[in-house]
Amino acid sequence: MKISKKILEKTREYKDYTSESLSKMVKIPSLSGEEEEVIGKIKEILEDAGVEHVRVDGFGNLIARVGNGPKKLAIDAHIDTVDTGDPEQWENAPFSGLIKDGYVHGRGTVDQEGGAASMITAARILQELDYDEEYSVYFTFTIMEEDCDGLCWEYLINEEKLVPDFAVITEPTNLGIYRGHRGRMEFELDFSGISCHGSAPERGKNVIYAASRFALEVEKLNNNLKDDPFLGKGTIAPTLLSTKSPSLCAIPDQGRMHIDRRLTWGENKQSSLQELENISEDDVKIYVPNYDKPSYKGTVYEQEKYYPTWKISEDHQLVKDAQKTYQELFQEDGRVDKWTFSTNGVSICGRHQIPTVGFGPGNEELAHAPNEKIPVNHLEKAAGFYALLPYILTGTGKNK
Ligand SMILES: [Zn+2]
Repeated sequence: MKISKKILEKTREYKDYTSESLSKMVKIPSLSGEEEEVIGKIKEILEDAGVEHVRVDGFGNLIARVGNGPKKLAIDAHIDTVDTGDPEQWENAPFSGLIKDGYVHGRGTVDQEGGAASMITAARILQELDYDEEYSVYFTFTIMEEDCDGLCWEYLINEEKLVPDFAVITEPTNLGIYRGHRGRMEFELDFSGISCHGSAPERGKNVIYAASRFALEVEKLNNNLKDDPFLGKGTIAPTLLSTKSPSLCAIPDQGRMHIDRRLTWGENKQSSLQELENISEDDVKIYVPNYDKPSYKGTVYEQEKYYPTWKISEDHQLVKDAQKTYQELFQEDGRVDKWTFSTNGVSICGRHQIPTVGFGPGNEELAHAPNEKIPVNHLEKAAGFYALLPYILTGTGKNK
């Protein structure tokens, strides 16, 4: 029997198993930095499924390996979620994990424990098929993505020396094949002025004027940023301005501005910093802030808040093999597209140039929204995709 047919039979057989794995995860709240319990649950499910090589790294990521091939394929899901927002806006309780009418309901189903549940089923299937091809498959269940995308993968690559040849991100794509997204970064600006009595403002230097002039230049800059036919346009926006003065009857001498920058192809940290320096006056300090929140293990792995843009070509072998996998399983062409949001790809492909594609269950528009829910049939299809891709990459998927 062809391997794709065997895999499809098994994903059908494990349809309820996949939904139930997801339901178990959703019932455990797992905000960024609070993932210990859900990581423990996923470890238990994988071990019960007979997956042999399962371990937690020094940061708190869970890594499961199937196969012993010389090359490495990583399939990644972040298993932290954002908070629920107003619970009143949810029809069912956000952590219900309810399986009803062909959907699994609750916070994290789409973004993105659904991908994680499909990965568990794929790992189980590969283990049962005694998978042993050219690619060792690393299923990574990673932490803190919602707070600092890619940080978990900086740890895996730099500290755990897990450097895959290819990677798959399982964030929601509505079962499309995604090959990139815009990057992003944050800037902080410290303005300094000279305080004096409010009754004689000419004696001082008011940071509100300096910051306002700067903000208006940023608005102009936003209209002139680079565009990319695939990824879209870069953007820039001030998102916070605060000032300090000795009293409300004094000229403020300290100001802080926060800037959100979305980076398209050809834009990076140096180029966007330069753009801001070009419009700044002397008395402003511009810098990229750091992320230094500890993981649930207490590990601090500091990183600047710069998340590089990434994309790979539509002709890349990985995109073609992802297409082949899709065609082999579902007898039609997959839709190739990009994400509007950011993922762990900023580290894997953005910083480390490891070719990466996205393929995930669920509609990305429901990410971070109330009444998040995921179709059970998406979970089943994604599990089949993750199980077959390593065979296709090896070139054995079609003839076996
Ligand atoms: Zn996500």
